[in-house]
Amino acid sequence: MKAAFIIGHGGNEVVKVRACEPVKRRPGEVLVRVEAATLNQVDLYMRNSGAGITHQLPQIMGLDAAGVIEGVDASETLLTVDQRVVIHPGITCGRCEFCQRGEGVLCTKMQLLGEHRHGTFAQWISVPAQNVFPMPQGLTFAQAAAMGVNYLTAWRMLFTKARVKPWETVLVFGIGGGVSLAAMQLAKAIGAKVIVTSREDSKLERALAMGAAHGINSTTQDVAKAVMAYTGGRGVDVVIENVGEAVWSMAMKSLVRGGRLVTCGATTGDQPPADLRRIFIRQLQILGSTHGDFSEFRALLSFIEQSGIVPVLDSEYPLDRIHEALTRLESGQQFGKIALQLMS
Ligand SMILES: [Zn+2]
Repeated sequence: MKAAFIIGHGGNEVVKVRACEPVKRRPGEVLVRVEAATLNQVDLYMRNSGAGITHQLPQIMGLDAAGVIEGVDASETLLTVDQRVVIHPGITCGRCEFCQRGEGVLCTKMQLLGEHRHGTFAQWISVPAQNVFPMPQGLTFAQAAAMGVNYLTAWRMLFTKARVKPWETVLVFGIGGGVSLAAMQLAKAIGAKVIVTSREDSKLERALAMGAAHGINSTTQDVAKAVMAYTGGRGVDVVIENVGEAVWSMAMKSLVRGGRLVTCGATTGDQPPADLRRIFIRQLQILGSTHGDFSEFRALLSFIEQSGIVPVLDSEYPLDRIHEALTRLESGQQFGKIALQLMS
């Protein structure tokens, strides 16, 4: 089989598509023929350094995937050969304090595909049966693959952490990125009003065409002032943000009293001023979030099917052209997910 390995740390030169031994299914696991996977920011992080993440090189990249089951245990009752499935990339221990209280997402022994062990940019993968879920009807493999990281992350941020309500207003920074677009689509689908920001008017126009209520160009406008002008001086109930330092101050100033800010990333820096006075006087909530657990994934997949949300794909590449795909992700020019086709 073929897979994309990182063989060192650096730029695209450390990423090699190679032939390797076929994957063998382990007991309790499911063998999945991977049809599609999508790129995530963490793939760039692992390629560049992987600092702080225990891993061994060479390692197969990739976190999310969708494909077709080719092998299961004889005793398996919920999953069958030839079934179309989507993979949750978090492999939990099931035994630590956090797993036992039903918060697998906090597992102290968490192993993520493509971070701590071989990932999904491979033609076949063997993963624990509990990580394999039926694919929502109506999606392509590439669209379904996007569920496993970005859509799940956005789901937990919006509904578990911020507890967004249909009558509330949500501000989403950096529309065009995977989590941001997912957050916009999911919040909109429950009826919430969504304001988006981008440095590019073309991305704002696309978001407005998809149902965003208002777009703010963060290069030419002061985001907090624009939010206040649009909301009649009130501010938004929830901010969804993964940009970090560059937007933190604007994000805090955009919140209504008692508002909630959820962060899942810090691509521009992780040490913004805390602005403690604003936090306690206005009784703001700052919520950290990362990824999501199995129960959230199940809820997300059902909601995707019921709501008819179609994940936004920016582009699709065959595995052999992964370097172009990584360059596209790194450029920040994309609007939606960049997918890999593993079998073409
Ligand atoms: Zn655990």
